[in-house]
Amino acid sequence: MPTTVKGIVATAKGEPVELTDIVIPDPGPGEVIVDVKSCGVCHTDFHYREGGIGDDFPYLLGHESAGIVAEIGEGVTNVDVGDFVILNWRAICGECRACKRGEPWYCFDTHNATQKMTLTDGTELEAALGIGSFAEKTLVAAGQCTKVDEADPAVVGLLGCGIMAGIGAAINTGEVTRGDSVAVIGCGGVGSAAVAGAHLAGASPIIAVDFDERKLDAARELGATDTICSKGMSEDELVAAVQELTGGFGADVVIDAVGRPETWRQAFYARVWPAPSCSSACRPRRWS
Ligand SMILES: [Zn+2]
Ligand SMILES: [Zn+2]
Repeated sequence: MPTTVKGIVATAKGEPVELTDIVIPDPGPGEVIVDVKSCGVCHTDFHYREGGIGDDFPYLLGHESAGIVAEIGEGVTNVDVGDFVILNWRAICGECRACKRGEPWYCFDTHNATQKMTLTDGTELEAALGIGSFAEKTLVAAGQCTKVDEADPAVVGLLGCGIMAGIGAAINTGEVTRGDSVAVIGCGGVGSAAVAGAHLAGASPIIAVDFDERKLDAARELGATDTICSKGMSEDELVAAVQELTGGFGADVVIDAVGRPETWRQAFYARVWPAPSCSSACRPRRWS
């Protein structure tokens, strides 16, 4: 029997979101229904509401979650009813070129639930990042459930988006390694996790940049060795401050965790220069 639960839906670009009834179909082959126990608030949900990700309204928002498997469809073997799981955006295929070369984060053929959740009038919902977990229950592909030991869902649910995005930016995309100098611009959820990722990889110095002192304090706890409060700084001044903390070189890896043109330029110019093409003797530089 399809189930009706409450969910938060963005109905149109820029309009206030609505708490409304949504209908979850019975899980089909390879699908799972999860009782959502927590859902973080991520800027990406705001982007969906603002029409910045697509125009396929209505969107069922929410994607940074943990919960308990409530029902499983035919052929599901990786989880069972009652399992405590973190939801992940995409179930990797395990067979495409990216998966086979050990880079599943670039998988070309990720899976979501095949069926759609709907409004009570039958209008199909697009689930944010293929999850849609600002809801009491949600329908996902079985592979989107990562079984973990039971823990505080509000804490471990963050692994489903912000933490993996930040740690992944440092360790996978930025390829931060021992001894690298790293600057992280913006120390919200993703930036804080990038600081932690750089710390895990053995980077030093790790320079956290934000205009909120409280976020810089938190970044220090996660492994930042230096902090720059960028409030009131020009783009050039910030770049100069990063260079000063890195012996005049700039950072080996700069992570922009804000995503605005200004911070993108700062990230670009705060790297080690000159660019690698200038001389084969220059050490390779990466950024993300
Ligand atoms: Zn997110
Ligand atoms: Zn794949």
